[in-house]
Amino acid sequence: MYNPATGERSAEVELASGSEVDAAVAKAVTAARDWRHASLSQRAGVLFAFRQLLHERTAELSAIVTAEHGKVLSDSAGEIARGLENVEFAAGVPQLLKGGFSEQASTGVDVYSIRQPLGVVAGITPFNFPVMVPLWMCANAIACGNAFILKPSEKDPSASLFLAQMWKDAGLPDGVFTVLQGDKEAVDALLVHPDVAAVSFVGSTPIARYIYEAGTAQGKRVQALGGAKNHALVLPDADVEMAADAVVSAAYGSAGERCMALSVTVAVGDVADRLVDALAARLPKLKVGDGTHPDTDIGPLITAEHRDKVAGYIGAGAKAGATLVVDGRDEEVPAGGFFLGTTLMDHVTPEMTVYTDEIFGPVLCVVRAETYEQGLALINDNPYANGTAIFTRDGGAARQFQYDVQVGMVGINVPVPVPVAYYSFGGWKASLFGDTHMYGAEGMSFYTRGKVVTSRWPDPATSAVDLGFPRTR
Ligand code: NAD
Repeated sequence: MYNPATGERSAEVELASGSEVDAAVAKAVTAARDWRHASLSQRAGVLFAFRQLLHERTAELSAIVTAEHGKVLSDSAGEIARGLENVEFAAGVPQLLKGGFSEQASTGVDVYSIRQPLGVVAGITPFNFPVMVPLWMCANAIACGNAFILKPSEKDPSASLFLAQMWKDAGLPDGVFTVLQGDKEAVDALLVHPDVAAVSFVGSTPIARYIYEAGTAQGKRVQALGGAKNHALVLPDADVEMAADAVVSAAYGSAGERCMALSVTVAVGDVADRLVDALAARLPKLKVGDGTHPDTDIGPLITAEHRDKVAGYIGAGAKAGATLVVDGRDEEVPAGGFFLGTTLMDHVTPEMTVYTDEIFGPVLCVVRAETYEQGLALINDNPYANGTAIFTRDGGAARQFQYDVQVGMVGINVPVPVPVAYYSFGGWKASLFGDTHMYGAEGMSFYTRGKVVTSRWPDPATSAVDLGFPRTR
């Protein structure tokens, strides 16, 4: 592993073998057997304690995230805060797992529904949110009475160990939360292990597709969230200064390494020139540097290879005919680290690789459209469908967009519309494989199995043999 701000090797992570995966799952199976008996209030108690610890140790955990991921400290604290919302949501498990009850569904017969844990569930997570994404999964999974195995990204694995320590300090029994460091070998062992009941995955689209296909082929429940190419649609009536602030924040925050980053802006009609000028005016003010420095706006990319790949896309875009308004490759950046300046490209067209591929770097493409309909068609034709945002002052246009657009998460003058914890997170099309979005009510449903009980307490006065098919009476 590297500190991406210095380019220096910082630590080594040992990757689990198949037999180590077996041992971790066996321990989790034993832990899950007991944890499912913990009362709802005992489980909520652990979540409340964990929440308190997460508050108290945010600065320490932020430093760990920044040292391995590179994002600025305030951004690390931001992902912890958003993850914490999921812990708060899950602490409401006594309310959330309430079932239905129908008294006298038939004469003397009551029917009720309950939800029970699955057993051992696994989470496989990406490098770009080493705290928030694991918390999207494990808070709900544990609240529902499961044992959770986290396989974090091998690029920034230390935050997961800090989370494990906090779960322990919060009173969670051993084996209910396990960290398994590893790569494809560990993932594949989890996917075929008969005692792993469900897999939650967040990462790139090719791997998400693979996890979904391999996991479901083994009969597992799988939710696999993939990559993104998120478009902003800026209408001619938008407040251009506000839209430019929002788009710049969402395109370049965390160096563009966010699945909800706005990487394409569709400028409709005569707003294009004004918008490009407003965007370009903001870029020289953004400081690229070490994320631990308080005046840094944008940290490094995760690896040198990724930085070079992103730079390659900029070259390819220019060669294909896009206008390089600002070329991040020219920006002076600190030596040693995996830094890249901010890039703004205008006149991008849909067949260019800068448009078709998820770049995952500080690169914003502007595509010009003559009408709202053209802009909308562009978004709906894209294979990815994670997030999108419209910028307008026209409520009717915004409502029409929300109705028409084929994307899972929509912002109206909100650039990064990550749903709060009591809704659920997930895109459509190539951004999500499986039927269940992550966290919120869908998360509780994913980590539990429903059971419906039909019950009669015999009344000796009415007892008789009846061979007919049971009907409601
Ligand atoms: P990645 O797909 O390379 O890795 C994700 C996880 O899969 C890691 O734990 C990794 O170890 C594992 N993995 C990698 N290759 C594998 C293989 N061949 N077989 C089995 N497991 C494998 O993703 P990343 O680079 O860590 O993260 C960035 C990607 O994640 C981007 O595409 C981004 O859009 C996406 N992402 C999506 C969301 C979302 O909610 N949709 C959120 C965050 C990140």
